[in-house]
Amino acid sequence: MDRLVVVGNGMAGARTVEEILARSDRFAITMFGAEPYGNYNRILLSNVLSGAEDEADIFLNSLPWYAENGIDLRAGVQVTRIDRFARTVRADDGSVTPYDKLVIATGSRPYVPPIDGMHHPRRGFHQGVFAFRTLDDTRAMIRYAHDHDRAVVIGGGLLGLEAARGLQQYGVEVTLVHSPTHLMNAQLDEQGGAILRRCVQKLGIAVEVNARTAAILGRDAVTGVRLADGRTLPCDMVVVAAGIRPNVDLAEVSGLPVERGLVVDDQMRVLDEPDIYAVGECVQHRGQTYGLVAPLWEQARVLADHVSGANPKAAYHGSRTATKLKVAGVDVAAMGVTAPERDDDEFVVFAEPRRGVYKSVVIRDGRLVGATLLGDVSKVAFLLQAFDRGWPLPEERVRLLFDLGAPPAQESAAELDDAAQVCNCNGVSKGDLVATVHGGLKTVSGVMDATRAGKGCGSCKSLIAQIVEWAADGAVEEDESASWYVPGVPLKKPELMAAIRAGGLRSVSAVFDALAGGAEDAKSKMGLVSLLRMMWGDEYVDERGARFINDRVHANIQKDGTFSVVPQMKGGCTTPDQLRRIADVADKYQVPLVKLTGGQRIDLLGIRKEDLPKVWADLDMPSGYAYGKSFRTVKTCVGSDFCRYGVGDSTALGIAIESRFQGLEAPAKLKLAVTGCPRNCAEAYVKDLGVVAIDGGKWEVYVGGAAGAHVRKGDLLATVDSPADVMALTGRFLQYYRENANWLERTYAFVPRIGLDRLRAALEEDADGLDARMAAAVAAYRDPWKEGAEPATPGQFRTALPLRVLPLVPVREGS
Ligand SMILES: Cc1cc2nc3c(=O)[nH]c(=O)nc-3n(C[C@H](O)[C@H](O)[C@H](O)COP(=O)(O)OP(=O)(O)OC[C@H]3O[C@@H](n4cnc5c(N)ncnc54)[C@H](O)[C@@H]3O)c2cc1C
Ligand code: SF4
Repeated sequence: MDRLVVVGNGMAGARTVEEILARSDRFAITMFGAEPYGNYNRILLSNVLSGAEDEADIFLNSLPWYAENGIDLRAGVQVTRIDRFARTVRADDGSVTPYDKLVIATGSRPYVPPIDGMHHPRRGFHQGVFAFRTLDDTRAMIRYAHDHDRAVVIGGGLLGLEAARGLQQYGVEVTLVHSPTHLMNAQLDEQGGAILRRCVQKLGIAVEVNARTAAILGRDAVTGVRLADGRTLPCDMVVVAAGIRPNVDLAEVSGLPVERGLVVDDQMRVLDEPDIYAVGECVQHRGQTYGLVAPLWEQARVLADHVSGANPKAAYHGSRTATKLKVAGVDVAAMGVTAPERDDDEFVVFAEPRRGVYKSVVIRDGRLVGATLLGDVSKVAFLLQAFDRGWPLPEERVRLLFDLGAPPAQESAAELDDAAQVCNCNGVSKGDLVATVHGGLKTVSGVMDATRAGKGCGSCKSLIAQIVEWAADGAVEEDESASWYVPGVPLKKPELMAAIRAGGLRSVSAVFDALAGGAEDAKSKMGLVSLLRMMWGDEYVDERGARFINDRVHANIQKDGTFSVVPQMKGGCTTPDQLRRIADVADKYQVPLVKLTGGQRIDLLGIRKEDLPKVWADLDMPSGYAYGKSFRTVKTCVGSDFCRYGVGDSTALGIAIESRFQGLEAPAKLKLAVTGCPRNCAEAYVKDLGVVAIDGGKWEVYVGGAAGAHVRKGDLLATVDSPADVMALTGRFLQYYRENANWLERTYAFVPRIGLDRLRAALEEDADGLDARMAAAVAAYRDPWKEGAEPATPGQFRTALPLRVLPLVPVREGS
C-alpha cells in the first residue's frame, strides 16, 4: 500500500480524503490536524456562536469515522516541517512520518492588522481580544461574552457581521468598525452595502464605516478602541475579523513555492513537486486564492482523481466567484463584477431600502457578467446558471430580477443544470439531489441527511425542497422521523411511552431490543434514559453506558477533560461552614478557577475526574445538578425577611421548591426563580418557571420564560393564594412538561406549542394523576453523590481522557 499523509484536517483536507476513499483503497492514510477534534463544518461556527446550533451538530467526520475508514488520525498534532528529500513529515509530538504522496490542506489564518495594543507580551492576544476561526476561538468568545457587555468587531465582511450578530445573543452591545466605505465591500456595491448597513443597524448593531481602528486600549484587559479620527469607543471585548491569509508557514519553512498562497498546477500538485499536492484556502492556483468553501469541492475532486489514478487527465481550471450566503440573517448572493466597468455595460438596478431588498445585474455583450442580490435571492438559481454558462438573457431585463407571471419554483428547479452546485457549503449539485430522490428517498430532510445539502449556512434549503419536489414529481413524502421522540426509535412520545409501559421496558437496551429491532443508536440514549427514569422512577434499570459522561460522574465536563463541580445551595443560600469547606477543597485540589454562576451557585472548575469522589467527600454537600437535562436551580431574591419592598418570603419558598424537586430528570434543563415582589430581582419572568409574590399574600406563577440564547418573558399560568398552592402547581406543571415535551424542547418552545388554555385545562383535569406521579418521582430521588464513596463501576472515576497539565483555566487577577 502507498502511504498517503494529509496535513490539515479541515474542510478541504477531510473532503479530499473522502473523495480519495471513494475512488481507491490503495492508500494507508495518516492525517494530521492541529485542532484536537474530528473535522467540523467551520461555516457553522457562526451558528454555534449565536447558540442556534450545538457544537456536536457541526461535526462532519467524528473521531470514529476515521477509525472506521482505517485512517490514522493524529488530532491535536501540528506538522512543523516537510523533508521533501527524505519524504517525511516531522510533527510537534516528535514523530517523523514517511509518505509516498503528501497533501497539504492547512487552510487560512485570520489576518490581524497592525493595531497598537492588540497583543500582550505574555498572552498572545490582549485580554479580551479574539479572532474568529476555530471552535476554540468560538468557545472562548462565548465564555467571555457571558460576562461582558460591550464589544467592538473589527471588520464588516462576512465574518465580522456573523460575529456581531452572534455576540448580540449574549446581551452584548456591538459596534462594527469597518475601514472601507461600505459593508461587505468584496461582494456588494456601494448602494447594496448601504442597504445592508440599514438592515444590520435595525438589528441593533451600531456600524462605523470609513473608520480605521488605531489602537486597542486598556492595561490589563480591553477597555475600548481608539479610531484613527481620534474618537474612542468604550468596550470590554474586541473581535478581529479583518480578513484571512493563506496559512503557508509550513510550506515556507519546508522550501515549497509560496507567493500569496502555496502555488499549485491544474492537477493541484505543488509546482515542481510531483508527489506533493495542496488543496483548499492555502493554495494559489493561476494567481488566485479563495476564501470561501465552494471552490474547495472541485479542487478536492480533481486532486482525488489525479492522486488515485482514477482520472489522470482531471484538471482544475479555477472557480468563478459566485457567493450565496446568509449573513446575520440576511440573504446575500453575489457573482462577478458589482458595477459597470465599460461604457456600454448595461446596469439594471432595483432597490427597496425599506424592505432591505437590493438587486442589480451587469450585462456585457448580451451576457451576464455580474449580479448582486440582497434580501431577496429568489432568482439566484437562474442568475448563477446564466453567469456560469453564458446563457442567453431575456430581452426584458427585469425578468432577471423578478419572476413575472411564470410558476417560479418548478421553473427554477427544472431549469438548473445537473452539475449546478445547489449547496455551496457542502458541495452538493442538483444531480446529486436528483439521484438521491431517484434512489428512493422521497423526504426533504432524508435527502438533506443523505447528501449533507442544506447543512451549512442554510440559504439553499428552499431550493433543495423545490428540487426534491420536482425530482419526486410531486410525490414528496412527509418526514415522519421529525416527530419521533428520539431519532433511533420510530415512535412519537405518546406512542413510545405507551409501548414502554405495555412492554414493561425498564432499560435503554430493552427499548432498543423491543422497539428498534435491537439497533442501538448513540444519539437516542440520553433521551431514553431521561424518559425511562421519569416513567419508572425506582424501577428504572440503569445501564451506565447509556449515560452521557456528565451523568456518569455527576459533574460537568470541560474542554480540557477536567470537570466543574457545583455543590447544591438551595435557593442560592449558603453558610459560613459550607463556604469554609468549599475554600478548603479549592485549596487542597488546587482548583484553578472558583466562579459564581448566574444561578447563584459556586462553581469549582478544573477538577480531575479521579479527584471527584474525594472532592465530594470533603465538601460533604449534595450535587447542584449544574450538568444534566434536569431540574437545576431555584434562584431567589432576599424577599420579605430582609428587603423593605418584599411582600413574600421568596427565599423560603425557593428553598422548599428546590428541596422537593431537586435533580428530577426532564426533557431539557429547568431553571426556576422565586422573587419577593414584582421588582423581580431574581429574574423570575425569564425562567422556565418563575414565581412572583404580589400584594395580598398572593403569588403569580409564570412558565416558559428564557434568558439565554433565546429570550422570552414567561406566560402567567395562574395567580394562587399560598406557598402550598405554588408547590402544587409547580409539581403539576413540571410533571406535565416531563411527560409531554419533546426531547430537548425547552419550556420556552413547549409552552407556546401547547398553548396556555390547553395547558391550564390539562393541569386541572389531571391534577390528581399529575400529583401522584410527581410524588412517586420525588420519592425515587437518590443523591447521586453517594456514588462518590462507592463507585458504581471500577472505572467510574478513572480518567480516560487525555488531560493536559493544570492549571489550564487562566487564573484571572482578583479571582
Ligand atoms: C466563522 C466562519 C464562517 C464562515 N462562513 C462561510 C460561509 O458562509 N460560506 C463559505 O463559503 N465559507 C465560509 N467560511 C470559510 C470556510 O470555512 C473556509 O473556506 C473553509 O473552512 C476552508 O477550508 P480549508 O480546509 O482550506 O481550511 P480550514 O477549514 O481552516 O482547515 C485547515 C486545517 O488545517 C489545520 N492545520 C494548519 N496547519 C497545520 C499543520 N501545520 N499541521 C496540522 N494541521 C494544520 C488547521 O488547524 C485547520 O484545522 C467561514 C469561515 C469561518 C471561520
Ligand atoms: S424582588 Fe422585591 S423583594 Fe425581592 S429583593 Fe427585589 S425588591 Fe426586594
